[in-house]
Amino acid sequence: MEWPNMLNLPKFQAGSVWIAGAGPGDPGLLTALALQALQQADVLVYDALVSPEILRLVRPSAKRIHVGKRRGQPSAKQSEIEAVLVSWARGGHRVLRLKGGDPFVFGRGGEEALALRQAGIPFRIVPGITAGIGGLAYAGIPVTQRGLNNAVTFITGHGSDGALPDDLDWLALARSRSALVLYMGLRTLPETAMRLLAAGASPGTPVAVVSEASTPRQQVLRSTLGECTLAVARANPKAPAIIVIGQVAA
Ligand code: SAH
Repeated sequence: MEWPNMLNLPKFQAGSVWIAGAGPGDPGLLTALALQALQQADVLVYDALVSPEILRLVRPSAKRIHVGKRRGQPSAKQSEIEAVLVSWARGGHRVLRLKGGDPFVFGRGGEEALALRQAGIPFRIVPGITAGIGGLAYAGIPVTQRGLNNAVTFITGHGSDGALPDDLDWLALARSRSALVLYMGLRTLPETAMRLLAAGASPGTPVAVVSEASTPRQQVLRSTLGECTLAVARANPKAPAIIVIGQVAA
């Protein structure tokens, strides 16, 4: 038996939506479910974070709908994306909603799942490898390491209004030995560093900024909490970038 059959994957039913993670970029980090969905989907709805290496795997006859930011144009509104998913599924198509990383980690997969449930559309969630774990691993950074940290905190640097979220407990974050993993955190890194330092974190705390993790374009910028603002201003790392603050970054 060929391995795809041995996996006994569920069927991608017509009229349903799969909300799938594509991982951080390397096609080798796709799950078997995501790969099957790419090869069977009638309609692909994807955003800017899905790498060109992965888009090449889509069934050639599939209709592609790009809903991310492109050349300065704003991305589609969340409600518009949800309407697109519902209408193609109602049309009897197999709709693959593909997202970078994991769909439930700062990916709005939950909002889309709720909209599909409300519309009565059958759907499946296909988890993916998130940038804050697998992307860091490709830079040689273990998100936990015995003796260094007992916890990991995933933080968005970009709340719904675009600013650093104002409900973070900086004192607790600075005091904890949790590794801090910042998604969408490049622009607000100076403010994040300032707040952590003001809350008592050590300026020598290692920081790593991993751009385009797991793609052939991956770059890693290593610095410290005290120096990362200057280092980022100088090196101007590319987005998307995943940032980790803590001893594991070293
Ligand atoms: N659902 C995604 C995260 C979406 S939020 C996931 O689980 O990975 C978008 C942020 O993810 C980016 O700003 C960046 O911080 C991070 N990210 C996603 N892919 C990345 C990659 N290949 N390299 C570095 N960071 C990445």
